[in-house]
Amino acid sequence: MRFDVAVVGGGPCGAIAGRYAAASGARTVIIEEHPAIGEPVQCAGIISGRAAYACEVGRGDFLIRTVQGAYINSPGHRLRIDGHEEKAWIIDRRIFDRELISRALDAGCELLLRSRVLGGRCNRLDVRIDGEREVIEAGIIIAAEGVQRRITRMYLGDLSLPRIIPGIQAEVRCDIEDPGFVEIFLGEKIAPGFFAWLIPVEDGFARAGLCVARSGIKEPPLSYLERF
Ligand SMILES: Cc1cc2nc3c(=O)[nH]c(=O)nc-3n(C[C@H](O)[C@H](O)[C@H](O)COP(=O)(O)OP(=O)(O)OC[C@H]3O[C@@H](n4cnc5c(N)ncnc54)[C@H](O)[C@@H]3O)c2cc1C
Repeated sequence: MRFDVAVVGGGPCGAIAGRYAAASGARTVIIEEHPAIGEPVQCAGIISGRAAYACEVGRGDFLIRTVQGAYINSPGHRLRIDGHEEKAWIIDRRIFDRELISRALDAGCELLLRSRVLGGRCNRLDVRIDGEREVIEAGIIIAAEGVQRRITRMYLGDLSLPRIIPGIQAEVRCDIEDPGFVEIFLGEKIAPGFFAWLIPVEDGFARAGLCVARSGIKEPPLSYLERF
């Protein structure tokens, strides 16, 4: 297979890069390893309105609600930070990512799902598509593969990676006292070295998550989330 532009990764960056390349007339393909765009969700789903407009999507079906501030909870203290106006959007990342991809497809971009880029050299990508090995040739390769950056490192060498902090999130039944606000929880017992969050989504539900950043901690984030 031969393309002008091959984009590795069907997340927001890949979708936008693919859309612009295709719209400029380049034969473009986005290569995504998962069977569906937007899954699995690895995001708390809070963005600023500016971020959505920068992605050129405006308000769409992905917008669940808006928030105007946050409560910061630490042992014995509760601080309300009120922006008095819409400050952030709570979004459904599945729908958001699919919206961006559908715009890329509308611009003429092609999409390969279940297709993992295994490696690359010069203008040739080694790809496993539905279990079969294929070579994709492209004049330009865009690595939009997210935080892992395996392919980026193959081309650009061993870039020093920032520290990766383990975290976990689940959508849970939960009545948030004030759904116009996000809840942040600090404390070594809750999320050592980082913080936990409760993000209001549909009525009666919230995203509960946390990261653990303190070195030397033996317990996995799941144990902290279960206690939280
Ligand atoms: C726990 C967590 C919470 C977050 N919360 C927020 C938040 O609230 N607000 C916010 O703005 N950001 C948040 N982020 C960050 C946000 O998710 C990322 O910045 C954003 O997804 C980056 O987009 P991307 O397109 O660069 O990469 P990604 O969205 O990671 O997309 C990369 C895609 O490339 C695919 N891929 C990777 N390697 C290959 C390969 N070799 N072959 C084929 N496909 C490949 C992956 O499957 C993936 O679909 C959060 C991140 C995490 C981990």
